[in-house]
Amino acid sequence: MSTIVWFRNDLRLADHPPLTAALERGGPVIPVYIHSADGEGDWPLGGATKWWLHHSLERLDAGLRKLGSRLIVRQGETAEQLAELIDQTGATHLAWGRRYEPAARARDEYLKKRFRAQGVDVQSYNDSLLWEPWTIQTGGKECYKVFTPFYRKCLETGGVGEELPAPAKLTAPGTWPASDPLDSLGLLPRIPWAGGLASTWQPGPEGAERELARFGGGSWSEYNDLRNFPALSATSRLSPHLHFGEISPRQVWHRLKGWAGPKSAAADPYLRQLVWREFAFHLLYHFPQTPVEPLRPEFARFPWQEDAAGLRAWQRGETGYPLIDAGMRELWQTGWMHNRVRMATASFLVKDLLIPWQEGARWFWDTLVDADLANNTLGWQWTAGCGADAAPYFRIFNPVSQSEKFDAEGAYLRRYLPELAKLPDQYLHQPWEAPPEVLREAGVELGRTYPRPIVDHHEARQQALEALATIKK
Ligand SMILES: Cc1cc2nc3c(=O)[nH]c(=O)nc-3n(C[C@H](O)[C@H](O)[C@H](O)COP(=O)(O)OP(=O)(O)OC[C@H]3O[C@@H](n4cnc5c(N)ncnc54)[C@H](O)[C@@H]3O)c2cc1C
Repeated sequence: MSTIVWFRNDLRLADHPPLTAALERGGPVIPVYIHSADGEGDWPLGGATKWWLHHSLERLDAGLRKLGSRLIVRQGETAEQLAELIDQTGATHLAWGRRYEPAARARDEYLKKRFRAQGVDVQSYNDSLLWEPWTIQTGGKECYKVFTPFYRKCLETGGVGEELPAPAKLTAPGTWPASDPLDSLGLLPRIPWAGGLASTWQPGPEGAERELARFGGGSWSEYNDLRNFPALSATSRLSPHLHFGEISPRQVWHRLKGWAGPKSAAADPYLRQLVWREFAFHLLYHFPQTPVEPLRPEFARFPWQEDAAGLRAWQRGETGYPLIDAGMRELWQTGWMHNRVRMATASFLVKDLLIPWQEGARWFWDTLVDADLANNTLGWQWTAGCGADAAPYFRIFNPVSQSEKFDAEGAYLRRYLPELAKLPDQYLHQPWEAPPEVLREAGVELGRTYPRPIVDHHEARQQALEALATIKK
């Protein structure tokens, strides 16, 4: 009796239900990762997540080796690879943690049927969410489209289960099946552009623990007051670790509860954000078309514009609006962007430039280390105003006042826009307002060292509202 534990977005050893089930059953355990496009649909891994995955798999293998085991890496069609592994190892059980993306669900359904028909005991487990998306229902047994009642219902549903311990040892099979070298998956970029990612992040469970310890040692108790200020590292920065399942939301939940103490509500603002992640998965599960289609159907008629030059300027951080440009450069350099700035940059693309939100979602998908189909879809549909519980379309982020409010002293802007660093705070948020002598003294030449604004925000805002009026008719 042996079990194949198929690792996917759960690249850790602690609090890992499929692994615990295999241990409880007894017998050899064969940990497997299969690199395949067949469960990703139209969303194959982007460049930044590929880089992360390479390092995360490396860490998982190192962790397994400490337990007397190893990670078997394969590539190719998932069903064929699993069939071959079952054949070669004589595995009687196959276990995995569930995924909720539409293509992965369809593929997993097929695999269950196929291998069960062959007499293999196939079991899937929830190892990445606090609550399964189908268990949170309204009184009328429907799914939720508004966050606050969803949040309340989650809390009523209660109990986040206890964490499971990491195994102390894993029984190896008599003979290990062949494994492909990690490098052969081609996850690392051929052109070395990932230096900024490497100096910012430590993929793997140890990296997740490091971020959690940083957060726990400092800003968690002030999260509600500080989380909107991009210059401060006041959020947990756990999103890529949560995406790849290097830490489970249950582990994070209990850690925060422990810091706050049993009777305190001090952790609630943070835990509420974790529930936004649950909401994103709930929506993706119930509305699987939403990565490409607006949830609110009237938005299919929205008069979006084709604007290749505008899109390119936005992607490169060359819009002439410092907050937008700093955010897009943070994204390019580090593979991550602060949530407040994600909202501002996304709003700029869809509302100031009238470029379809799907274009922005694709760019984020390729450049974010935490690119996640559920969260990215929710973030973009929320900003565009076409999703569940979305920001109303007429809420158009003003890139200057957002910047003045959340980065008043310009620490964030100066970090990512060194060409503006010498401008006085007063003009940093809108350099085009600076008198010529101030620009000259700061070494800024608009149109040469830093772009002039590619649109006038006030005119663009008016245009966006007019565009909205057309779909309301
Ligand atoms: C346009 C847009 C696109 C986004 N794309 C992604 C994405 O691809 N992947 C991703 O993980 N998040 C995405 N987000 C949500 C959010 O910006 C990030 O989760 C957050 O900035 C990650 O930083 P953190 O871990 O420090 O968050 P914290 O503030 O420390 O929050 C803790 C965790 O809660 C979850 N969370 C927090 N805010 C949200 C939210 N608004 N929606 C869903 N989950 C949330 C995340 O898992 C996060 O790691 C997007 C937001 C927007 C506006």
